[in-house]
Amino acid sequence: MVGVRERLVGDWATISLWDGSGPGPHSPITGTGCGSLAGMRGSAWGWRLRRRVNRLNGTTALGLAVARAGGARCRPGPGGVILAEGYRWGFPVAGAFTVGDVVVTRGDFDALCGRLPEVLEHERRHCAQYAVLGLAFLPLYVVATAWSWLFLRDLARGNLFERWAGLRSGGYL
Ligand SMILES: [Zn+2]
Repeated sequence: MVGVRERLVGDWATISLWDGSGPGPHSPITGTGCGSLAGMRGSAWGWRLRRRVNRLNGTTALGLAVARAGGARCRPGPGGVILAEGYRWGFPVAGAFTVGDVVVTRGDFDALCGRLPEVLEHERRHCAQYAVLGLAFLPLYVVATAWSWLFLRDLARGNLFERWAGLRSGGYL
């Protein structure tokens, strides 16, 4: 039986070795849409810089820990993100959510991308927000969500972070 800690270290080693320029070594990306690097904006050096920053500021480590605690399986995804599928907790309520470079969903990304073809582009912008703000993103996001709810009675449309990430690509319009 492999413990959570060993699996985390295993994930970490795999993801650290992966250069972010395409599908990872163990988990070929399948399907279309999210699975394709085509259509992802940004450059490879930009992804590498973002990945490095999110590794250093602790947000990707937190994302991996959240994904593992929720029972999700991780694999490298396009644009330098880490895809975590099969998350079992009820919170937060969202089709997908992002912590550091880790994008987490309850089902799988092939199905999610079938419904929302640009969802990874949206989540990748949240990854960039983590690179700028570090762990401060989380309390600031909560404030932005509360603000949006207070003035618009909507959790996303008045939320600066969701607007910057793209309301349409995130499935909010
Ligand atoms: Zn979002």
